[in-house]
Amino acid sequence: MYFLDSVDLDHVEDELKKIEKDLKKYPRIIGIKIYLGYQKYFANNEKIFKVADFACKNKLTVTFHCGEIYDEDGKSSFSEYSNAKYIEDLAKKYPNTNFVASHINWPEFESVFSLCNKYDNFYTCFSGCNDGWDEKERSRQNMLISDILNKYFKKYPKIKKKVMYGTDFFACSEDYSDVSSYIKILDLLNINSKEKKDILYNNVCNAYKIKF
Ligand SMILES: [Zn+2]
Repeated sequence: MYFLDSVDLDHVEDELKKIEKDLKKYPRIIGIKIYLGYQKYFANNEKIFKVADFACKNKLTVTFHCGEIYDEDGKSSFSEYSNAKYIEDLAKKYPNTNFVASHINWPEFESVFSLCNKYDNFYTCFSGCNDGWDEKERSRQNMLISDILNKYFKKYPKIKKKVMYGTDFFACSEDYSDVSSYIKILDLLNINSKEKKDILYNNVCNAYKIKF
C-alpha cells in the first residue's frame, strides 16, 4: 500500500515543509494530491508550480482532483478551476515529473485524453466516476464509462498506457470492501489481457514510479 500526501494551497510554504518531514517518516508516500475546484486555483497557478518544483526535487508524482466537484449537499457540478487542461503548462515545464489528472476530468474528456496522448508524463484514472448506489446503477454507469474510454482508446491508442483503474475508496473500507461490481468495467473495455493488466497495475507503477 502506498500513499499520497496533500497540500492546502492557501499555505503552500508551510505545507511543503510538513511534507518534507512526512517523507522522512513515511517512505511509502509516492505523490502529492491537490484538490483543484475544492480550492479555487487553476493548475497553472504559481503556487502549484512551487509544489511541482518540490515534487520534481523529491521524485514525487503530482495528482490533481479534476472535473466535477461535489458541494455540501452532495450535488456535483463542473468547476473550471479543476479543468485538467491547465496542467499542460506544468507537464511541459517538468518533463521528468509525472502528473495525474484524476477522474478523467469528468465530463471534459477530450482535454484530458489529448494531454495523455501528447505528454509522456501525463496520466489519468477513472476513480470516482462510478458513484452508483446499488449494483444495477453501478452496472449502468460502467457501460457509460466504458463507452467513453473505448471511444478515446480508438482515437488515441497510446493512452491505454496512461489510464488507471480506480474506485476512489479504500478496498479495505467497511462499506466498500466488495469491489466486484466496479471492476466489471474491465470486461467492457476493448482491450486485450495484457492491456487489462496495464490499466489495473502497470500504468499505476509507471505513473507513481513504483519499482519492485
Ligand atoms: Zn479527487
